[in-house]
Amino acid sequence: MYKNKYIMETKKIEAIIAPPAPHFVGDGFRVHGFIPGSPRLSHRRMDPFLILDYNSKINFPPKEIPRGVGVHPHRGFETVTIAYQGSVAHHDSSGGGGVIHQGDVQWMTAASGILHKEYHDKEFSQKGGDFQMVQLWVNLPAKDKMSPPKYQAIKAKEIPKHILENNAGTIEVIAGEYKATKGAAFTFTPINMYNAKLHKGGQANFSFPENYTTLLLVIEGSVKVNQDTDIPLDQLALFNNKGTDFTVEATEEAIVLILSGAPINEPIATHGPFVMNTREELLQAFQDFNAGKFGYLEE
Ligand code: MN
Repeated sequence: MYKNKYIMETKKIEAIIAPPAPHFVGDGFRVHGFIPGSPRLSHRRMDPFLILDYNSKINFPPKEIPRGVGVHPHRGFETVTIAYQGSVAHHDSSGGGGVIHQGDVQWMTAASGILHKEYHDKEFSQKGGDFQMVQLWVNLPAKDKMSPPKYQAIKAKEIPKHILENNAGTIEVIAGEYKATKGAAFTFTPINMYNAKLHKGGQANFSFPENYTTLLLVIEGSVKVNQDTDIPLDQLALFNNKGTDFTVEATEEAIVLILSGAPINEPIATHGPFVMNTREELLQAFQDFNAGKFGYLEE
């Protein structure tokens, strides 16, 4: 039988995951640990995504001293923080820092080692209000794990936008590419990261290589995927590797985080805030941290 290999093949959903019970990171982030929470979402299956912590919407009452998490190290990967509601102030030992407000993204490459702290912005804290964030940990390949730390502050207005036809909505391209609109962030390995903002009834098509790890998280509203599967608010959908193309339709005004990344396919040795390839490198990370080689940052 003739088979056209260029014909698009639907990418189906492999699993829909409800948010796991939340836990607090410091006193400022109440997160659902989607990755690597469920056995289905192991490091191997989620490669290159190491952690997906989702702070679903929560209202924080006013507080004079900002909530958050104090000085801690990272080595061997990147943290990506996306602010949907509320504001976070960040400082690190390489001199990077700033405040991320609603719609902003902070892409921090810890690589060879960094100390940082993450607190609610002082002004936000004093007023209180709705708070909703995603923090992803994106792995680095062995060759880049010991590269210099780096910090990309990506403001909402700098994120390239693809306007969909028929007033369906907008695809904001944080990283990678969507129909020739290139993303704002530099990435070490191929990663597509979008916020799809869809009006009720609006539909968008997505296409990713079969070997990429592909997910979506419903941040606001609800959606239907491939015209047959409803994904409610705060739920994560993991796609099959097989197939390339899928559609997302908003069943009400929706914001959806779309993630698709090329697996790195290297061994992972991880403990706490360090993600390396071997146990020896992990021990070295602890030694270097204890020897003060990650620099200094005031509490
Ligand atoms: Mn951190």
